[in-house]
Formats: sequence, structure tokens, C-alpha cells
Amino acid sequence: MGKLEIVTLEDVVKEVHDTSTFRFRADIEGSPGQFVMVWIPGHDEVPMALSYLGDLKGITVRAYGDATKALLKMKRGDLIGVRGPYGNTFRLDGLKVLCVAGGVGIASLIAAIEGFSDRGAKVATVLAAKTAEELIFEERCEKSGEVHLATDDGTRGFKGLAPALARKLMDQHTFDMIATCGPEMMMKAVLDLCLSRRIPCQASIERYMKCGIGICDACVLDDVLVCEDGPVFSGEELAKSHDFGKFRRDESGRRITL
Ligand SMILES: Cc1cc2nc3c(=O)[nH]c(=O)nc-3n(C[C@H](O)[C@H](O)[C@H](O)COP(=O)(O)OP(=O)(O)OC[C@H]3O[C@@H](n4cnc5c(N)ncnc54)[C@H](O)[C@@H]3O)c2cc1C
Repeated sequence: MGKLEIVTLEDVVKEVHDTSTFRFRADIEGSPGQFVMVWIPGHDEVPMALSYLGDLKGITVRAYGDATKALLKMKRGDLIGVRGPYGNTFRLDGLKVLCVAGGVGIASLIAAIEGFSDRGAKVATVLAAKTAEELIFEERCEKSGEVHLATDDGTRGFKGLAPALARKLMDQHTFDMIATCGPEMMMKAVLDLCLSRRIPCQASIERYMKCGIGICDACVLDDVLVCEDGPVFSGEELAKSHDFGKFRRDESGRRITL
């Protein structure tokens, strides 16, 4: 089991009503797409993508269940535990890259968006949320390239779902890499667009995780583990998957239809 490090929350930034970013210093590295297991004392340990790399690391947390709601009540100076970083990373290949982020999926994708741009790629990002008040990291995305907003209710940007806007952009421009993170059905639609156009694609997949290090098998996707073999999978891998876009597993391992 990786070393658990107790860290102090040095900064807490409320991004939108149900989502905050927590910054801390930890003796860990980290690359775009990797995650840490975050221990919230008295509650649980949950996987969180590193939304900030560098000295002052960050995680960006959306309220979901018990642990995330408890974390969102924490303030600057409070202590959490972190271990990691775990998992593989986004491959920063490509010169014309389209990133498609839905909801809190931008927390995992943002370091890759910055990484693609730092490597000289031209980056366009579809930043999508249910409604305008839930859009996160718009300014950070703008620093790395073009941003195309989409909201389900049309309160900002394109009215509709992220894959519809991604399709429009793919019709208008040539891309040589697509990276995506967000709700699984959104990623499935993006994957289908990429497969039909033969554009390389990578997606960061979410599954219920307990250990984060390949022991418990909770995060199994077909015959691979999201914690160790992922969370980032290529389009070719996902095209062969029986589970992706169809099933996830709950805490007890029971299959749940998506
Ligand atoms: C690699 C990875 C990176 C992640 N990064 C982020 C991030 O950057 N920001 C963020 O806000 N969230 C992220 N998540 C999701 C986050 O870990 C879950 O929202 C959190 O574990 C929920 O814990 P909870 O105690 O609040 O809810 P719980 O009470 O545990 O969960 C409520 C319900 O959601 C289900 N559930 C819990 N976790 C998952 C899951 N991972 N997949 C599918 N169903 C689940 C449970 O079965 C339960 O029914 C990530 C998940 C993974 C696997």
C-alpha cells in the first residue's frame, strides 16, 4: 500500500456552488490524468484526479455522497491524508488536439489540456456542464487555447450536449488527438465519433474504487483494473470493452446498468 501522507489544506477555492478546489503540499509527483486516494478523517478514502500539478497540488471535488460532502465542509488549515499518485497518464501526443470535458471531468483533463499546450499543440476544448453556473476552469482552459462552451440548458454557449458540439468542431476542423473525461455516456458518444472518423482518442474512466492499487478488484472494467491499467484508456481499448458505456459496479461488486 502506498505511503499515506497527512497534509494541511493550504487553500480552498469555491469553484461553483457544489464544487471546490483544495490545494496542499505533498511529497508526491504527478502527471496529467493521475489520481490520488484522499482520506477524509472519520469518513472514507476516495479517488480524486490531480487538478493541479507542481509544488502546490490540487484536487477539485464535486459533492456526491458522504465523503465528498464531508470534504467540501473542510477549511484552510484542516488535515487530509493523500497517497499516490496512481494510475497511468494522458499521452500528450498530437498537434491539433480536441479535449472534451463534461462536468467535474475537467478536474482530470485540465492538467492534460495545459500539458498539450506546453508541448506546442493547438488545443481546442469543449467545456460542458448542465448549466452556466456549473462551468469550471474556463479561464485556465482559455490560457491553453480555444474554448467552446456548451450547456444542456443553453444558459451559456452552445445549447446541447458536449458530443454534439464536438461533432460540429470535428466537421469544421482536423484533429489528430481527442481526449475526454466526463459522464460515461458522454465519453461513449465522443468515442463513437472518433472511431467513425478514425481519430485517435483517449478517455479517463471512473469506477468505484477502494484501494487504488490493484488489490481489491472493485474497479474492474472487463478484465482490466481502472486503478492500475487506467484510468486513461485508448479508443481502441474502449472499442473492445463490453463494460464501457454499459455497466459499472457498486460497492459490493454488483453490476449496475449505466
Ligand atoms: C480515477 C478517479 C478520479 C476521480 N476524480 C474525481 C475528481 O477529480 N473530482 C470529483 O469530484 N470526483 C472524482 N472522482 C469520483 C469520486 O471519487 C466519487 O465521487 C467519490 O468517490 C464519491 O464518494 P462519496 O463518499 O462522496 O459518495 P458515495 O457515498 O461513496 O457514493 C454515492 C454513490 O455513488 C456511487 N459511486 C461512488 N463512487 C463512484 C465512482 N467512482 N464511480 C461510480 N459510482 C460511484 C456509489 O456506489 C454510491 O451509490 C474520481 C473517481 C475516480 C475513479
